[in-house]
Amino acid sequence: MARDIDAKCRKCRRAGEKLFLKGDRCNSAKCAIVKRNYIPGVHGKKMRRGGSEYGMQLSVKQKIKRIYGVLEKQFRRHFEDAKKKKGVTGDLLLQRLEFRLDNIVYRMGFASSRAFARQLVNHGLISVNGKRVSIPSCEVNVNDVISIKEEKKAKNYFKNLEQQLKNKKDFPSWISFDSSKLEGKIVSVPEKDDIGINVDAQVVVEYYSR
Ligand code: SF4
Repeated sequence: MARDIDAKCRKCRRAGEKLFLKGDRCNSAKCAIVKRNYIPGVHGKKMRRGGSEYGMQLSVKQKIKRIYGVLEKQFRRHFEDAKKKKGVTGDLLLQRLEFRLDNIVYRMGFASSRAFARQLVNHGLISVNGKRVSIPSCEVNVNDVISIKEEKKAKNYFKNLEQQLKNKKDFPSWISFDSSKLEGKIVSVPEKDDIGINVDAQVVVEYYSR
C-alpha cells in the first residue's frame, strides 16, 4: 500500500516538479518534492534530469499525461483530435485535456485531485446538462452545465463541500460557478495562460512527428 501511495509522488520526483496528483497533501510539508526533490531510486541523488532532444520531448509528453492521469492510447486520441482542428495543435491538445469531464470536476473543486474526480464521474455522481455522465474522458463544451446529480447532493461529502467551495478562491475564469447549487457552467474555452500548466505542449507535436 505504501508503495502505491508513493507511486504518484515518484512521478513528480521524476518530472522534478509538483504535478499535484494527491490533493491536499501536495500543498503540505509532506509533499515529496519538498522533502526529496531528486530522481527516485538508489542512484537518484546523483542523476541529472534532462538529456537529448528526444528525451526532453518524451518527458514533456509524460508530464502532461501524468498531470491529467491519461494513458498513452487515450492521450494519443486526444492528440489526434487536436491535430484535426485549426490552430496551434499543442494549445488545442491542452484545451482538449482541460475539457475532459474529470478535469472540470477537479477544476470546480468537487474533488481534491483528478484521480478522485475520475472516481466521482465513474460512480455516476456527476451530470452534464441535467443528464448523468459516467465517462471521465467525455468532452464538455462551452455553455455546458456541470453539477452533482440531484439525488446525490444529500451525501455528507457534498454537504460539507458546499461550505468549502464558498471559500474557494482559485476558480478558473472560464467556468462560472454557483456554490449554493454546486453547479458550474463553461463560459469560454481556456486560453494557454488560464490553464496554468508550465509546459510547451507543442513539443508533443514534434515527438509524434518523428
Ligand atoms: Fe506527491 Fe502531490 Fe507532492 Fe506530487 S505534488 S510529490 S503527488 S504530494
